[in-house]
Amino acid sequence: MSSPDPPAALADAPTLAARRLDDLAGRVACASPADGGGDRTGSADGGALEVFAPATAERIGSVPACDADDVDAAVERARAAQDEWAATPASERAAVLDRFGDLVLDRRGELLDLLQVETGKSRRTAVEELFDVPTGCGYLAERAPGALADERRAAVAPGISTATVTYEPVGVVGVISPWNYPLTLSMADALPALAAGNAVVLKPDEKTPYGALALGELLEVAGLPDGLFQVVTGEGPTVGPALIDAVDHVAFTGSTETGRAVAERAGRNLVDCSLELGGNNPLVVLDDADVDEAARGAVQACFSNAGQLCLSAERIYVAEPTYDAFLDAFVRETERLTLGTGYDYDAEVGSLVDAAQLDRVESHVADARERGATVLTGGRARPDAGPYCYEPTILTGVDPDATVACEETFGPVVAVAPVPDADAAVAAANDSPYGLNASVWTRDRDRGAALAREIDCGTVNVNDAFLATWGAADAPMGGFGDSGLGRRHGPEGIRRYVESRTIGVSRVGPLGFPDRLPTDWFVRGAFAALSVGRRARRGARRLKERVGLR
Ligand code: NAD
Repeated sequence: MSSPDPPAALADAPTLAARRLDDLAGRVACASPADGGGDRTGSADGGALEVFAPATAERIGSVPACDADDVDAAVERARAAQDEWAATPASERAAVLDRFGDLVLDRRGELLDLLQVETGKSRRTAVEELFDVPTGCGYLAERAPGALADERRAAVAPGISTATVTYEPVGVVGVISPWNYPLTLSMADALPALAAGNAVVLKPDEKTPYGALALGELLEVAGLPDGLFQVVTGEGPTVGPALIDAVDHVAFTGSTETGRAVAERAGRNLVDCSLELGGNNPLVVLDDADVDEAARGAVQACFSNAGQLCLSAERIYVAEPTYDAFLDAFVRETERLTLGTGYDYDAEVGSLVDAAQLDRVESHVADARERGATVLTGGRARPDAGPYCYEPTILTGVDPDATVACEETFGPVVAVAPVPDADAAVAAANDSPYGLNASVWTRDRDRGAALAREIDCGTVNVNDAFLATWGAADAPMGGFGDSGLGRRHGPEGIRRYVESRTIGVSRVGPLGFPDRLPTDWFVRGAFAALSVGRRARRGARRLKERVGLR
């Protein structure tokens, strides 16, 4: 039900109207009124979730609060559609996803507006996010069929038997996604799952349901069979567990705390799960870095999406010889940033997502200050720019026990500290239970790449913030330690949604002790063949090493 006066957050969006948001809410996979579900988009109804625009704190609409029965019904519909999709050749499935990528590009105006309305992010950040979806589609169109093709593997008795691996979709994949990058982080998991022949039931975050619903509509237009991709909206603690109990794989992106609960539940059900969780990511500036370049990189690493990015740097360690020069440049570049919530490209940094996120950022900075930290720039909310806007903030002298040093702030706040040398920087970078992303700055790229191998993170970028790794769609991405389990992107990100099956075929009947030979002859011959085979393989390996083949 739309309010009589359109909220100001929608009035300026060139392509959006409250009516459109209501239409999207109607796409949620909950029981229809005819099934006794009632109108669950009305705000007065207990079965609805209100959605707000962070830029103005206004209510912009509501979506159904699905319950466990809705989730079961959605999974059942998805399961019914999945068999035929699994039987569709991988190249045809990939072509549908490629068409979807084109549609996302065609409809980018509306998608960017939706993204800004529901997250409060800047237009620039929204563009970066949207870019990711067609890029992922292109990658899957090109590489998914190969990653899913049958593979011949080395047989136990070459010439006598064969071993072939086939990849079968697991069935229905439940995707649970967060609010910070609602399009990218829904699709980075849903699209490879679909490419692998699965159905997907997606639960977007309560704060950001509309982007996922709009993409669901485009998937249908692209030719995805009816029912194969469904969106269920509702409270995480209700919809999440119901989804985990009904699906065959859970792809979760969110906080480490919720991730643990997801893993426990999936473990009890013996279904696999992939977890993309939090981080407290380090950025290292070595003594030979170009400090101006490093400062620009640090601005991108720390303040993209107002710091609400799992890959964001929240800790910077600078080798002492470059410390002062780097800090000067970093403060200068940070103070150049513009803060705002418009639909144009003027603002570089947008809003935080809600009051709770603003409280978290304010309390982390207050705690750091109380423990003696210095605020070099920022350190305050900016209600003039938006109700939840907060200035990009640089802290020094942060107590190692301060919350900001130990926990993920997930906001535009970074602590900078000097370190004596590269070894100390690596030790400091690795002093964290998390291990998601890191960034290293040096004029010597080989030195940077060597140092990257010592940092315990799933992705390490040399002379870049995060795009060199995140943007490489063919390379795996995920976390060490408390930052998660499993990898998205690349063949790893496709094969996590399949069961591998090995088919072994013997040309001579049962392998093992033959009936027709005396056992002692056979045993002697078998051991001789094993020794000869091992020597031959070792020789071949050495030859390859000598000629530089791997
Ligand atoms: P969150 O864990 O509170 O919520 C994430 C999702 O889980 C939401 O859809 C939520 O509704 C759902 N959920 C809540 N309770 C649940 C439950 N009991 N069972 C199942 N699902 C449940 O996370 P958040 O605080 O909204 O998101 C920010 C966090 O996500 C940060 O920690 C950030 O680092 C992390 N994140 C990680 C990545 C990555 O790729 N590693 C990417 C983006 C965000």
